Amino acid sequence: MEAKSSRDSSWYDVGSFLNHRVTANGEFEARVRFTGFDRSHDEWINVKSSIRERSIPLVESECHLIEVGDLVLCYRKIGDSELYYDAHIVQIERKLHDIQGCKCSFQVLYDHDNDEETVVLSKLCRRSQ
Ligand SMILES: [Zn+2]
Repeated sequence: MEAKSSRDSSWYDVGSFLNHRVTANGEFEARVRFTGFDRSHDEWINVKSSIRERSIPLVESECHLIEVGDLVLCYRKIGDSELYYDAHIVQIERKLHDIQGCKCSFQVLYDHDNDEETVVLSKLCRRSQ
């Protein structure tokens, strides 16, 4: 599973679920320990909106599966932080795959800040459908 941190809107792998509770408006929340982080990063996270099955790293043979409009998880390095944000594919520039693999470029629009960036396939994870 992966969970979206309310601190930075990035998705992280869930190491373990520590507890759960129901909020005053009837929403379920889980206390999550993130993989690779200690308990100072534990968070209460809304189960319905911000916990889901892990996204799947794309391999080059799956390049053709990605289409404009798709929701993807996009890797972004900011300073020392390695973050994974929800983004939508805006445009794809397809190139012929050769011995070095995929050379296509993908223009993405990040959901949380509406920033656009052009990335390569290896930075993208797809949602399982
Ligand atoms: Zn490609």
